[in-house]
Amino acid sequence: MKTHVKALIVGGGAVGTSIAYHLARGGWSDVMLLERDELTSGSTWHAAGLLPYFNMSYATSHIHDYSIKFYKTLEEETGLNPGFAVVGNLRMAQTQARMDEYMLYASTAETVGVPYEWLSPSDIKDRYPLVRTEDLKGAILHPTDGYINPADVTQAMAKGARQRGVMIERRWQVDAYYWTGDHWDVTCTKMVEKGGNLVPSDEQITIHAEHVVTATGNHSQRTARLLGIKIPAIPVEHQYIVTEPDPALVEWRASNPEHPVLRDADAKWYVREERGGWILGPYEQNAPARFEYAVPDSFRADLFPLDLERIEEEYMSMIHRIPSSETVGLKDDYNGPICYTPDGNPLLGPAPGLRNMWLAEGFSFGITAAGGTGYYLAQQMIEGEAEIDMASLDPKRYGSWMTTEYAMRKNEECYSHVFILHHPDEEREACRPLKTAPCYDRMKALGAQFGQVNGWERPNYFAPQGFDDHAARSFRRGGWWEHSVTEAKAIREAAGLIDATAFTKHVLTGPGATRFLDWFTTNKLPRVGRINLTYALTSAGTTRTEYTIVRQAEDQYYLVSAGAWQAYDADFLQKAIADKMPEFGPMVLQDVTSQYGVFALAGPNARAILAKLIRDPEPGTALSNKRFPWLSAKDIELKMCPTMAIRVAYTGELGWELHHPIEMQNYLFDQLMEAGADLGLTPVGARAQNWLRQEKSYRAFGTELGRDATPLEAGLDRFVDLSKDFHGKSAMEALGIRSKCVTLRIDGPGDADPWGREALYLADAPAGPDTKVGRLTSGGYSVAFGQSIGMGYVRPDLAVPGTKLKVRMLGELWDAEITEDSPYDPSNAAIRKDG
Ligand SMILES: Cc1cc2nc3c(=O)[nH]c(=O)nc-3n(C[C@H](O)[C@H](O)[C@H](O)COP(=O)(O)OP(=O)(O)OC[C@H]3O[C@@H](n4cnc5c(N)ncnc54)[C@H](O)[C@@H]3O)c2cc1C
Repeated sequence: MKTHVKALIVGGGAVGTSIAYHLARGGWSDVMLLERDELTSGSTWHAAGLLPYFNMSYATSHIHDYSIKFYKTLEEETGLNPGFAVVGNLRMAQTQARMDEYMLYASTAETVGVPYEWLSPSDIKDRYPLVRTEDLKGAILHPTDGYINPADVTQAMAKGARQRGVMIERRWQVDAYYWTGDHWDVTCTKMVEKGGNLVPSDEQITIHAEHVVTATGNHSQRTARLLGIKIPAIPVEHQYIVTEPDPALVEWRASNPEHPVLRDADAKWYVREERGGWILGPYEQNAPARFEYAVPDSFRADLFPLDLERIEEEYMSMIHRIPSSETVGLKDDYNGPICYTPDGNPLLGPAPGLRNMWLAEGFSFGITAAGGTGYYLAQQMIEGEAEIDMASLDPKRYGSWMTTEYAMRKNEECYSHVFILHHPDEEREACRPLKTAPCYDRMKALGAQFGQVNGWERPNYFAPQGFDDHAARSFRRGGWWEHSVTEAKAIREAAGLIDATAFTKHVLTGPGATRFLDWFTTNKLPRVGRINLTYALTSAGTTRTEYTIVRQAEDQYYLVSAGAWQAYDADFLQKAIADKMPEFGPMVLQDVTSQYGVFALAGPNARAILAKLIRDPEPGTALSNKRFPWLSAKDIELKMCPTMAIRVAYTGELGWELHHPIEMQNYLFDQLMEAGADLGLTPVGARAQNWLRQEKSYRAFGTELGRDATPLEAGLDRFVDLSKDFHGKSAMEALGIRSKCVTLRIDGPGDADPWGREALYLADAPAGPDTKVGRLTSGGYSVAFGQSIGMGYVRPDLAVPGTKLKVRMLGELWDAEITEDSPYDPSNAAIRKDG
């Protein structure tokens, strides 16, 4: 057995096998896969094999799309038939809200190029007469997906991998990882059978691997312990049952092709045909998490006992939907562990704090995702970046605050939410509140309805006491919309206070800091006391992180980045600093996120409110343009609260960010609210802020800004200093401008705004794949223009003000026009206002 390899994959389920295959196909030789038992003996063997296209995430939709296309090619390459039955997938809707959900999803499907068809209840009845349709509103059909044999597709990928030189070794368990400084020493133990259990033998070897990928499925908690990191992937029980043949189905099949997979999302199940009978797969309530610390040795390719009572409701609803299934008996049942993560997305990408260690854990649709996962992860490993932005799957989207109980409870919630209505304004309830800013209770008393960002509770909007946020959610304008309108107007007309405590904050000090940041970021560094907006790039030249940098002293910088990405940004900075310290000199990085609270005070009255509180020898001029110009920062005293005030406003109005000691937050909050009481100061949530920033064309990280576009494509040329050398510069220039970020004013349906997932089409031609010219990445309502607004990416030749396009919303096409950047107050007169 080889002991020196370029890449070692740990785990021979569908996911690990695909990664091994794609690394070899991508050109890496010396790829080895180790499996502690047999290939597919984890969750893979008992999966139902469904390959649903339907997914609300852009990255995951790409992954699923690749898998489905790739699996269709495997037989020709390997001679092994993976058992792909392209039977189509019919997703039914019992309510208009569900149809709205499908229409929003259809937009995402169009942006990815996934085919679909709409069916009315009578279309369904005509084509699939076994389905009861009286209580349906309609359905969306994916004609090109279906199901596959999970074991066969894994074996086909394994064969393809072997043909490309991958070594696959079974019965070897990885037991320890040690990073030597330039490679991993991986201790592996030969596993043997004893009394039906799989146990370690005395035979051990060490494998030297340049890169390691863990794809250990249900064993991810053991993997986490071995690596000394946290991996919030914990399995949940998932059952499906198989019925005896249904005579009605058998008869229908005599003159029809195989029945499409059925999904009755409102009833929380999928059903597919299986040897003349049906497989019912429910996503029921109360499925428990399992293996939160480890998988017992005795659990191999095993199952849990069936819990029929738990799925009774779903069973009855299958009988309702397919009446002929009432009389057929049960033939078989499966209850296996299915890995989940708190948000349902896998954990895919570089491991936190470690070099050349890649995680591919937490797959709940691992058969569907395996192909694309292998393809895009191999791109990332071989070329440095994948062609799609993988940030939403990155393992570092969870920080070190994550615990076992949190992961268990969130994963159970996520499982039970598979088929709920996925409103874009959804907020999930489990494990909350957990991380709260000190002023949480005060904001709650003012009617705050909270969302969560990186675990922090952050107000989305404020509404009268007793307001039911759950009932207010919608695919159109939800019940909260009017409150956000009021808040957005308050900022444009008087003043608003936004809690931005969740911002990620780092302080970098030391003799190497200036040269490091100059290399690390695209913009010129600010002078002492000034700030700038700047970007750190990936090695592929795309945007990795956006920073607001405050230069606090010659060698001291305060870096502010997006709240959702604390661990992701910290890891990137730490690794880059460690790499560059020898070249640039000593530096110390501190994550001060939870030391400072942040309030953003914005609006025409912001200065007057602060003037009441500021303690300064000359308070009359302390906040003037002369003494406190736009884009500068100062340590000020707001009565008894020492505050670093930064003159910026993400809303496009006169404003300051007030970074304050978190332990004084309540004091400052009370002072500000009191000072603003007669000046129209209104607490404002994240939703209104999101609308306002689009009126100013301010790009947001995670939507307009990500690893699939460069800052030049994002239209941020003014923050990129091409006269200096910086990380990723030549790669950025080589990429050119593939698409361009624009802002659009949209004449939408009147009861809905775009969410930022919609496809954009040419205005003067029928909508179709050939006339699709881009997609929205953000959307909302503009109080300044009284219409919908959005931001997105379009073909570069179209990115000129005045271009008319169409946007797909709720199944129809609506007029959209590209505006100048910053359609509201393009000269920044409001922000720069003196006083
Ligand atoms: C009842 C049920 C139905 C399902 N239906 C579907 C479906 O229809 N469609 C779909 O897409 N998904 C489905 N799934 C989910 C799917 O099974 C999983 O997402 C998928 O199998 C995950 O694959 P994996 O490779 O990540 O993990 P696994 O298949 O669990 O593979 C991990 C492997 O790693 C090995 N391993 C672990 N630790 C070590 C170590 N230290 N050293 C060496 N080897 C190690 C394990 O032995 C195991 O073989 C279903 C799951 C269940 C339970």
